[in-house]
Amino acid sequence: MRLAGLMKTSTFRVVALPTEVAEAARRNAADGAPDHAMITADSPTGFPCRHCLRWAQPGERVVLFPYAAIAPGRPYSESGPIFVHAEPCQRHPSTYEFPANFRNGRVLRAYNSGHDMIAAEVVNGSDPEAVVEKLLRNPETAFVHVRSVIHGCYTFKIERI
Ligand SMILES: [Zn+2]
Repeated sequence: MRLAGLMKTSTFRVVALPTEVAEAARRNAADGAPDHAMITADSPTGFPCRHCLRWAQPGERVVLFPYAAIAPGRPYSESGPIFVHAEPCQRHPSTYEFPANFRNGRVLRAYNSGHDMIAAEVVNGSDPEAVVEKLLRNPETAFVHVRSVIHGCYTFKIERI
């Protein structure tokens, strides 16, 4: 039985993009790297920053660059475009709470320790924590990636505690 406010069982934590990756992207963009673009957000929900896990707001600048969510050298290796704020921002804390801005329109992909995708499930608002816990009930699941349903872009990672 779960009582409000008491001992919420936490089996996982949200892991935002490492700060060193965001800082490297900002440096590379400033240096004019051809695969890094500086963009000004022009919609309130089109430019998710993977470091603070908030939407960049219209007028804020973001860096667009490719990120290897699954590193090269494996069958499921994958690199794709992500945004981070162009200005320094505070990394989203590693907590059990699903980031408020990304409870909708996400697909959760479960990977095993060999980085093979072993399950995937779409989350739309209801209870993303429950879906994560369901995926983690499979002992084969080593970690979970959260991606945009529509664009497919990597959003953040979930690790077992
Ligand atoms: Zn940010």
